[in-house]
Amino acid sequence: ELSLEVRGLAFAYPDGTQALFGVDASIARGERVALLGPNGAGKTTFVLHLNGILAGGSGSVKVAGLPVDPKDKKSLREIRRRVGVVFQDPDDQLFMPTVREDVAFGPANLGMRGPELEARVTAALERVGMGHVADRAPQHLSFGQRRRVAVATVLAMEPEILVLDEPSSNLDPASRRELAEILLDLDVTILMVTHDLPYAAQLCPRSMIMSGGVIAADGKTRDLLADP
Ligand code: ADP
Ligand code: ADP
Repeated sequence: ELSLEVRGLAFAYPDGTQALFGVDASIARGERVALLGPNGAGKTTFVLHLNGILAGGSGSVKVAGLPVDPKDKKSLREIRRRVGVVFQDPDDQLFMPTVREDVAFGPANLGMRGPELEARVTAALERVGMGHVADRAPQHLSFGQRRRVAVATVLAMEPEILVLDEPSSNLDPASRRELAEILLDLDVTILMVTHDLPYAAQLCPRSMIMSGGVIAADGKTRDLLADP
């Protein structure tokens, strides 16, 4: 079963910049994949197509078999639930008075209430080891803790695929290690955009290297990183 299936995805920005030139990629359920490549390669543009934030080019994207179609507002809601994006800056993701409310926000927005919602929030916070800060204000946590809470806000949606943008950036060695252990323990499909090759090697058995708007290489991380 595929979590993600992308076929012939091409896209140009309104100013005419062609950012994607026919991207093909399949990710099976439960895989952890690093998306590597130089600045300007098209990684961000690619990722923004996975949940329909960008659209209008050619080709197709399917998440667990469901086509991403930005014109279909109802299916787009489901796609946004299935594709959980953890931004590079956790402060773009945390805006409620307490950690608990931030993690509850997504599922509550889907109509979840009461004990079911509470259980969902508790489970998500426990998966990132942040249950003990549930009632604190996000801005009083360390950066590493905020990033883990940002991951919990996304896990609370029980996504099909977890997309992380530079998850190791700005972390001290201890936080970096803790986050790696957390991500390795999750049984969710992971696509991780990163420039951190050791992190990619540690977490992702498979890597895709993007260059010039296409997937230039795709294979075992240890083979790709051994042979530059
Ligand atoms: P990466 O994430 O790998 O650094 P991007 O997807 O950000 O690559 O960029 C791919 C290409 O698209 C680059 O040439 C970049 O300059 C261009 N680009 C990105 N965003 C925009 C935009 N909003 N308008 C026009 N061109 C853009
Ligand atoms: P990242 O490091 O995540 O790949 P970038 O540095 O490529 O991000 O881009 C940062 C922001 O600038 C993004 O919102 C992107 O869409 C925008 N951007 C990048 N290149 C261009 C461009 N040529 N014209 C307009 N916006 C751009």
